[in-house]
Amino acid sequence: MTMQPFKAESKRLLDMMIHSIYTQKEIFLRELISNSSDAIDKLYYKALTDDSLQFDQSQYFIKITANKETRTLHIVDTGIGMTKEELENNLGTIAKSGSLAFKAENELKDGHDIIGQFGVGFYSSFMVADKVTVLTKPFGHEVAYKWESTGADGYTIETAEKARVGTEVILTIKENTEEETYDEYLDEHTLRSIVKKYSDFIRYPIKMDVTTS
Ligand code: ADP
Ligand code: MG
Repeated sequence: MTMQPFKAESKRLLDMMIHSIYTQKEIFLRELISNSSDAIDKLYYKALTDDSLQFDQSQYFIKITANKETRTLHIVDTGIGMTKEELENNLGTIAKSGSLAFKAENELKDGHDIIGQFGVGFYSSFMVADKVTVLTKPFGHEVAYKWESTGADGYTIETAEKARVGTEVILTIKENTEEETYDEYLDEHTLRSIVKKYSDFIRYPIKMDVTTS
Protein backbone atom coordinates (compact mmCIF):
# COMPACT_ATOMS: atom_id res chain seq x y z
CA MET A 1 0.00 0.00 0.00
CA THR A 2 1.62 3.24 -1.11
CA MET A 3 0.74 6.74 -0.06
CA GLN A 4 -0.78 8.81 -2.89
CA PRO A 5 -0.07 12.53 -2.76
CA PHE A 6 -2.88 15.05 -3.09
CA LYS A 7 -2.81 17.27 -6.19
CA ALA A 8 -0.92 20.57 -5.69
CA GLU A 9 -3.94 22.84 -5.62
CA SER A 10 -5.59 20.48 -3.17
CA LYS A 11 -2.67 20.50 -0.84
CA ARG A 12 -2.70 24.27 -0.45
CA LEU A 13 -6.38 24.26 0.29
CA LEU A 14 -6.10 21.38 2.66
CA ASP A 15 -3.45 23.30 4.59
CA MET A 16 -5.91 26.14 5.01
CA MET A 17 -8.58 23.73 6.17
CA ILE A 18 -6.30 22.06 8.66
CA HIS A 19 -5.12 25.36 10.04
CA SER A 20 -8.73 26.26 10.43
CA ILE A 21 -9.25 29.65 8.96
CA TYR A 22 -12.94 28.94 9.05
CA THR A 23 -14.84 30.19 12.01
CA GLN A 24 -17.71 27.78 11.71
CA LYS A 25 -16.06 24.40 11.97
CA GLU A 26 -19.41 22.76 12.59
CA ILE A 27 -20.32 23.02 8.91
CA PHE A 28 -18.25 19.87 8.23
CA LEU A 29 -21.31 17.91 9.33
CA ARG A 30 -23.56 19.68 6.86
CA GLU A 31 -21.07 18.80 4.10
CA LEU A 32 -20.91 15.12 5.03
CA ILE A 33 -24.68 14.83 5.37
CA SER A 34 -25.22 16.52 2.03
CA ASN A 35 -22.76 14.11 0.38
CA SER A 36 -24.65 11.19 1.93
CA SER A 37 -27.95 12.60 0.71
CA ASP A 38 -26.51 13.09 -2.81
CA ALA A 39 -25.29 9.47 -2.75
CA ILE A 40 -28.78 8.21 -1.86
CA ASP A 41 -30.27 10.44 -4.57
CA LYS A 42 -28.00 8.74 -7.09
CA LEU A 43 -29.52 5.36 -6.23
CA TYR A 44 -32.97 6.89 -6.37
CA TYR A 45 -32.40 8.27 -9.89
CA LYS A 46 -30.93 4.95 -10.98
CA ALA A 47 -34.12 3.23 -9.84
CA LEU A 48 -36.23 5.70 -11.83
CA THR A 49 -34.51 4.75 -15.07
CA ASP A 50 -33.92 1.06 -14.38
CA ASP A 51 -36.99 -1.16 -14.11
CA SER A 52 -35.04 -3.96 -12.47
CA LEU A 53 -34.27 -1.68 -9.50
CA GLN A 54 -36.65 -0.89 -6.67
CA PHE A 55 -36.29 2.14 -4.42
CA ASP A 56 -37.79 1.30 -1.07
CA GLN A 57 -37.71 4.57 0.87
CA SER A 58 -37.45 2.78 4.22
CA GLN A 59 -34.12 1.22 3.21
CA TYR A 60 -32.39 4.57 2.78
CA PHE A 61 -31.09 6.64 5.64
CA ILE A 62 -28.13 8.50 7.13
CA LYS A 63 -26.89 7.52 10.54
CA ILE A 64 -24.61 9.50 12.83
CA THR A 65 -22.82 7.67 15.61
CA ALA A 66 -20.45 9.27 18.10
CA ASN A 67 -18.14 7.38 20.39
CA LYS A 68 -16.48 9.49 23.07
CA GLU A 69 -14.14 6.71 24.13
CA THR A 70 -12.59 6.19 20.71
CA ARG A 71 -13.15 9.89 19.81
CA THR A 72 -14.77 8.79 16.57
CA LEU A 73 -17.73 10.25 14.73
CA HIS A 74 -19.28 7.97 12.11
CA ILE A 75 -21.51 9.17 9.28
CA VAL A 76 -23.07 6.16 7.61
CA ASP A 77 -25.21 6.18 4.49
CA THR A 78 -26.95 3.62 2.34
CA GLY A 79 -26.16 5.53 -0.84
CA ILE A 80 -24.44 4.48 -4.05
CA GLY A 81 -20.92 4.12 -2.60
CA MET A 82 -17.68 4.69 -4.53
CA THR A 83 -15.51 2.53 -6.75
CA LYS A 84 -11.74 2.70 -6.35
CA GLU A 85 -11.55 5.08 -9.33
CA GLU A 86 -14.22 7.30 -7.82
CA LEU A 87 -12.38 7.39 -4.50
CA GLU A 88 -9.24 8.49 -6.32
CA ASN A 89 -10.95 11.06 -8.49
CA ASN A 90 -13.43 12.44 -5.98
CA LEU A 91 -11.49 12.38 -2.74
CA GLY A 92 -7.98 12.83 -4.17
CA THR A 93 -8.72 16.25 -5.62
CA ILE A 94 -9.95 19.24 -3.71
CA ALA A 95 -11.81 22.08 -5.38
CA LYS A 96 -11.47 20.90 -8.95
CA SER A 97 -13.06 24.14 -10.09
CA GLY A 98 -10.91 26.38 -7.94
CA SER A 99 -14.02 28.07 -6.64
CA LEU A 100 -13.35 26.88 -3.13
CA ALA A 101 -9.90 28.48 -3.19
CA PHE A 102 -11.50 31.69 -4.36
CA LYS A 103 -14.00 31.61 -1.51
CA ALA A 104 -11.30 30.80 1.02
CA GLU A 105 -9.15 33.76 -0.02
CA ASN A 106 -12.08 36.11 0.04
CA GLU A 107 -12.96 35.03 3.49
CA LEU A 108 -9.43 35.73 4.60
CA LYS A 109 -9.61 39.24 3.17
CA ASP A 110 -13.02 40.13 4.47
CA GLY A 111 -12.64 38.42 7.78
CA HIS A 112 -16.23 37.36 7.97
CA ASP A 113 -17.94 34.17 7.20
CA ILE A 114 -18.55 33.92 3.49
CA ILE A 115 -17.48 30.34 3.34
CA GLY A 116 -20.14 29.11 5.74
CA GLN A 117 -22.80 29.86 3.18
CA PHE A 118 -21.27 27.74 0.44
CA GLY A 119 -20.50 24.09 0.03
CA VAL A 120 -16.91 23.58 1.09
CA GLY A 121 -17.01 19.85 0.66
CA PHE A 122 -15.58 16.69 2.08
CA TYR A 123 -12.25 18.22 3.11
CA SER A 124 -13.90 20.40 5.71
CA SER A 125 -13.71 17.21 7.82
CA PHE A 126 -10.09 18.03 8.48
CA MET A 127 -11.12 21.11 10.44
CA VAL A 128 -12.24 18.84 13.27
CA ALA A 129 -10.54 15.51 12.56
CA ASP A 130 -6.90 14.51 12.46
CA LYS A 131 -7.73 11.33 10.61
CA VAL A 132 -10.51 10.63 8.12
CA THR A 133 -11.39 7.10 7.07
CA VAL A 134 -13.89 6.30 4.33
CA LEU A 135 -15.25 2.77 4.09
CA THR A 136 -17.28 2.31 0.96
CA LYS A 137 -18.97 -0.40 -1.06
CA PRO A 138 -20.09 0.68 -4.53
CA PHE A 139 -23.45 -0.32 -5.91
CA GLY A 140 -23.20 -3.25 -8.34
CA HIS A 141 -19.82 -4.44 -7.08
CA GLU A 142 -18.75 -7.08 -4.59
CA VAL A 143 -15.65 -5.29 -3.32
CA ALA A 144 -15.33 -2.64 -0.64
CA TYR A 145 -12.54 -0.13 -0.03
CA LYS A 146 -10.97 1.78 2.78
CA TRP A 147 -9.63 5.27 1.98
CA GLU A 148 -7.67 6.93 4.74
CA SER A 149 -5.87 10.22 5.25
CA THR A 150 -4.39 12.23 8.07
CA GLY A 151 -4.37 15.33 5.89
CA ALA A 152 -1.45 16.90 4.11
CA ASP A 153 0.56 13.72 3.51
CA GLY A 154 -1.90 12.24 1.04
CA TYR A 155 -4.07 9.17 1.31
CA THR A 156 -4.08 5.39 1.10
CA ILE A 157 -6.63 3.05 -0.44
CA GLU A 158 -6.92 -0.65 0.33
CA THR A 159 -9.59 -3.29 -0.06
CA ALA A 160 -11.80 -3.80 2.96
CA GLU A 161 -14.81 -5.68 4.29
CA LYS A 162 -18.22 -4.04 4.21
CA ALA A 163 -21.53 -5.89 4.15
CA ARG A 164 -23.84 -3.26 2.76
CA VAL A 165 -23.62 -0.97 -0.25
CA GLY A 166 -23.00 2.61 0.84
CA THR A 167 -20.42 4.71 2.61
CA GLU A 168 -19.22 5.21 6.16
CA VAL A 169 -17.09 8.25 6.91
CA ILE A 170 -15.20 7.91 10.20
CA LEU A 171 -13.68 11.04 11.71
CA THR A 172 -11.15 10.74 14.49
CA ILE A 173 -11.92 13.97 16.30
CA LYS A 174 -9.00 16.20 17.33
CA GLU A 175 -8.00 16.58 20.95
CA ASN A 176 -8.86 19.88 22.59
CA THR A 177 -6.10 22.47 22.58
CA GLU A 178 -5.68 25.63 24.62
CA GLU A 179 -7.26 27.70 21.85
CA GLU A 180 -9.87 25.30 20.49
CA THR A 181 -12.25 22.68 21.75
CA TYR A 182 -13.43 19.74 19.69
CA ASP A 183 -15.18 17.61 22.30
CA GLU A 184 -18.54 19.08 21.30
CA TYR A 185 -18.41 17.18 18.01
CA LEU A 186 -18.83 13.99 20.02
CA ASP A 187 -21.65 15.37 22.10
CA GLU A 188 -25.17 14.27 21.26
CA HIS A 189 -26.84 17.56 22.12
CA THR A 190 -24.44 19.60 19.98
CA LEU A 191 -24.63 17.15 17.09
CA ARG A 192 -28.42 17.27 17.16
CA SER A 193 -28.46 21.04 17.09
CA ILE A 194 -25.96 21.18 14.20
CA VAL A 195 -28.11 18.73 12.25
CA LYS A 196 -31.21 20.78 12.98
CA LYS A 197 -29.52 24.02 12.01
CA TYR A 198 -28.10 22.92 8.65
CA SER A 199 -29.75 19.70 7.56
CA ASP A 200 -33.40 20.05 8.47
CA PHE A 201 -34.38 19.93 4.80
CA ILE A 202 -32.64 16.61 4.02
CA ARG A 203 -35.31 14.27 2.70
CA TYR A 204 -33.89 11.04 4.11
CA PRO A 205 -34.07 10.12 7.79
CA ILE A 206 -31.05 11.12 9.87
CA LYS A 207 -30.65 8.70 12.77
CA MET A 208 -28.44 9.36 15.76
CA ASP A 209 -26.66 7.13 18.22
CA VAL A 210 -24.19 8.31 20.84
CA THR A 211 -22.02 6.07 22.99
CA THR A 212 -20.52 7.81 25.98
CA SER A 213 -18.51 4.98 27.47
P1 ADP B 1 -19.22 17.99 -3.98
O1 ADP B 1 -20.23 17.34 -3.06
O2 ADP B 1 -19.47 19.45 -4.14
O3 ADP B 1 -19.05 17.27 -5.28
P2 ADP B 1 -17.37 17.09 -1.98
O4 ADP B 1 -15.96 17.48 -1.67
O5 ADP B 1 -18.36 17.28 -0.89
O6 ADP B 1 -17.79 17.93 -3.25
O7 ADP B 1 -17.42 15.59 -2.45
C1 ADP B 1 -16.63 15.17 -3.56
C2 ADP B 1 -17.21 13.95 -4.23
O8 ADP B 1 -16.94 12.78 -3.46
C3 ADP B 1 -18.72 13.94 -4.42
O9 ADP B 1 -19.10 14.66 -5.58
C4 ADP B 1 -19.01 12.45 -4.55
O10 ADP B 1 -18.75 12.01 -5.86
C5 ADP B 1 -17.97 11.83 -3.64
N1 ADP B 1 -18.54 11.51 -2.31
C6 ADP B 1 -18.33 12.18 -1.15
N2 ADP B 1 -19.02 11.63 -0.14
C7 ADP B 1 -19.70 10.58 -0.65
C8 ADP B 1 -20.61 9.59 -0.11
N3 ADP B 1 -20.97 9.59 1.18
N4 ADP B 1 -21.08 8.64 -0.95
C9 ADP B 1 -20.72 8.62 -2.26
N5 ADP B 1 -19.89 9.52 -2.83
C10 ADP B 1 -19.38 10.49 -2.05
MG1 MG C 1 -20.46 17.80 -1.09
